[in-house]
Amino acid sequence: MAASVIQLQCDCKNDPWGKKGGESLAGRLWSQMPDASPLDQSQTYSEMWMGTYPSVPSRLASSGELLQDHIKNNPELLGSRFCDRYSTEVPFLPKILSFEKALPLQLHPDKKLAEKLHAYDSTKFGDSNHKPEIAVALTRFELFVGFKPIEELREIIRLGPLQEILPKYEHVDEKALRETCRALLKLSERDASSIIDKLKHLPASDLGAKHQHIPKLVERLSEQYSESDNGILIASLLMNYMALEPGEAVCVPADSIHAWLSGDILECMARSDNVLNTGFCPRADRDNINLFTQALTFKPQGQEASLLQGQPSSFGSTQKTVEYAPPFSEFNVLGVSLNGKEMETHAVLHSPSILVVTEGSGIMATGQADNYDLREGSVFFAGPEAKLQFATHGSLNIYRAYATL
Ligand SMILES: [Zn+2]
Repeated sequence: MAASVIQLQCDCKNDPWGKKGGESLAGRLWSQMPDASPLDQSQTYSEMWMGTYPSVPSRLASSGELLQDHIKNNPELLGSRFCDRYSTEVPFLPKILSFEKALPLQLHPDKKLAEKLHAYDSTKFGDSNHKPEIAVALTRFELFVGFKPIEELREIIRLGPLQEILPKYEHVDEKALRETCRALLKLSERDASSIIDKLKHLPASDLGAKHQHIPKLVERLSEQYSESDNGILIASLLMNYMALEPGEAVCVPADSIHAWLSGDILECMARSDNVLNTGFCPRADRDNINLFTQALTFKPQGQEASLLQGQPSSFGSTQKTVEYAPPFSEFNVLGVSLNGKEMETHAVLHSPSILVVTEGSGIMATGQADNYDLREGSVFFAGPEAKLQFATHGSLNIYRAYATL
């Protein structure tokens, strides 16, 4: 019978917005993989993926076999209850992301739209699945998520530079927001750069108390990208800007607009790579603006709506585990944080999981003969009936994503 706890070998991507060399947590964790090469300090390391997604698949550290092939040949590793629901694919995809400039402004289509897009262009939209995602801050994490509440948008739309280009709305409502968004995205390079320039120089007295950060933010974003990137206008004017501390998390439902700005995070999403991009990326990459504004849920709301509070998990034996349970299906994430001589045992999850050590070191006992050394960058797949115990002599931070059944 196949071992139910398997050490994995994962890959890291090198997108241009990633942090460089040893600055990148994703890179540092990846460099601890059994056969990784040393970090190149001039190279960006953006995303380490853990799981069975075919474009960046994980392998067994012991043999190099693809995890996907291994579990297909050993479906008992997933359990029959799991296979009835998800077949032999891991339905979630955890990643470590490290970035120092904004990722593309994006949304992930909901199931209905994903099916439509997949039927329309299966090369570009390879999945018919939805892609809700959560992000847990591992270092200070700055981001944009969702549209500001209506009262704030009303003040924004009244700003001088926008009055010049927007129609006069009778009511600022969801329809006006959609039109504003479309108008900003469709601005020519010249018009976009002229508005960006005006926003950078807006006097504080023209801006309400909640919007004082806008000129600096516009300046920072235009240094990262071009002076005429329409995404700068959408993000800095219309979206909620947030900064999270380690352990704090957000949950992005499908269809909701978001962009990550800086930090190191653990991201977990439903198994899918469907994404519509529209800013902080070259013009040619931008998915059709009509498609984008059509797909988007124009639901103005405060930043609280996206916060995902970690709750003490009933799986943990000594309250050292918090659980991030997004209000959609497929997966939850457990976060374990141990210090000194602390230990934590997880009750059997009855569902397969993938765990990663993001900080510190320790030991993992599996209830079977073998114990494993844990260190930064250790990644494991655990079968549904695995009973895991974690211990440290210093500090140990682990994240463990599992499928909800
Ligand atoms: Zn995303």
